[in-house]
Amino acid sequence: MDAALLNKDVAAASAGAAPRILRNFVGGQFLDRGTPFDVYNPATGKVHARALEADAETIDLAVVAARRAVEGDWGRMPLAKRRALLIRVADRIEERFDDFLEAEIADTGKPYELAHHLDIPRGAANFRVFADAIANLSTECFEMDTPDGGKALNYAVRKPLGVVGIISPWNLPLLLMTWKAAPALACGNAVIVKPSEETPSTTTLLGEVMAEVGMPDGAFNVVHGFGPGSAGELLTTHPGIRAITFTGETRTGAAIMKAAAPTVKALSFELGGKNPAIIFADANLDAAVAGLARAVFLNTGQVCLAPERIYVERPVFDCFVAAMKAKAEGLKAGAPYAEGTTLGPLISDEHRRKVLEYYRLAIAEGATLITGGGVPQLKGEAADGYFVEPTLWTGLGPDARICREEIFGPCAHIAPFDTEEEAIRLANDTDYGLASSIWTTDLARAHRVGKEMEVGISWVNCWFLRDLRTPFGGAKMSGIGREGGEHSINFYSEPTNICIKL
Ligand code: NAD
Repeated sequence: MDAALLNKDVAAASAGAAPRILRNFVGGQFLDRGTPFDVYNPATGKVHARALEADAETIDLAVVAARRAVEGDWGRMPLAKRRALLIRVADRIEERFDDFLEAEIADTGKPYELAHHLDIPRGAANFRVFADAIANLSTECFEMDTPDGGKALNYAVRKPLGVVGIISPWNLPLLLMTWKAAPALACGNAVIVKPSEETPSTTTLLGEVMAEVGMPDGAFNVVHGFGPGSAGELLTTHPGIRAITFTGETRTGAAIMKAAAPTVKALSFELGGKNPAIIFADANLDAAVAGLARAVFLNTGQVCLAPERIYVERPVFDCFVAAMKAKAEGLKAGAPYAEGTTLGPLISDEHRRKVLEYYRLAIAEGATLITGGGVPQLKGEAADGYFVEPTLWTGLGPDARICREEIFGPCAHIAPFDTEEEAIRLANDTDYGLASSIWTTDLARAHRVGKEMEVGISWVNCWFLRDLRTPFGGAKMSGIGREGGEHSINFYSEPTNICIKL
């Protein structure tokens, strides 16, 4: 395998030379085949890498290699050894922390501090958590009475599903990809990962890591490309792939479901959101403002869990809006490594056009602009980056499009409410159901309202606080299934029940 060659590309790219080349990683080898496409650094608007698009033949090669791994060295590897390899992957990500950090920042333009504290550590943590999860699960067992007065013993053994296709988005590239790859591998599956075409670098680096730690060839494969008519669609329709685990937009999930139907693949979907936050008048307001400012603006609002609808009990509404305005105006947009940068760019020029169209629409719909609404004027290397201003509105009703459609930018609409029932009704008035964030000091209310939320996760007095053993996923149009801890293991394994007449 030519990991050394890839490393040279990384070094050359960092030195401002030619863009690095990102190859498909199939059967333990980096392949030199595929049509190159450009990968942009959104903080500068410049091409920093070129990835090789996988064609049907490359996908076939990946499926054959993956199948061989499941049936051979990897699928049959003793649990203790498999677990040790997963821990070794986590160790190696940490040893190569700076390489991952540089690659993630080049693809996303996100502030150094954010990638340093969130993206890369979670990439390693995902492997540790699922190495533990797989080692600590019990086997389901039932003793039954038989019609002849005897007994039978039932027990279920978990087996790998086979070859699993992982299709991931660009907002938290390493974090979200490893959130799927780690449990799938822990169960003994082989995976074929298609990272987002916008952010292929850290997944490619993980291919290097897999080779370095001695992962059997074909257990982890990377194919680059786009969705329709490209690597994404080729994975969803391939008869040799047993399951697709996907994170991305709801309408992409719908397209994948349709494409995967003829080959009856198992599906796990983590999709879009239009998440509510509710601030009651009894809340610790300083904590709520700090929590919501982080929730709305982290990663430039490009977090599926970010609240874009905030409901505030009327007595504290004005005070909350003023404090959020100050927080938004205190953010500093800029280049990832620049001192004091707290707000990165959006992922692409296309996404910036979409977000700015919502900024325009909000005003057209009659919103009151509290702050932002435009593009910041930046100097130096970030002048051509895809930045927008953090933006807050008030004044619109629940039917306004900006209150119903996922924008995926650093923005939120803030509306007042008068009663708990009204807050619950407004929060649930959406097709989506990913996450909510409730702020109150009344414990009984926290339990009551938390349970009423039609979402996969209800946070109280916090946001994005994750215990990776807990169920994670979306209700309504925000997803299918749950992952996390045992929930992931259940999705990525196939139980066979063995019934023995005693
Ligand atoms: P996207 O749906 O545009 O793309 C995601 C991936 O799907 C990419 O790799 C893309 O190439 C691929 N793809 C696109 N069309 C495809 C097709 N027809 N067949 C197969 N693959 C296809 O999403 P995105 O813009 O990368 O990410 C942003 C979206 O992801 C937002 O809606 C956000 O809410 C959602 N998201 C959800 C979660 C969650 O946990 N629920 C987490 C992060 C992001």
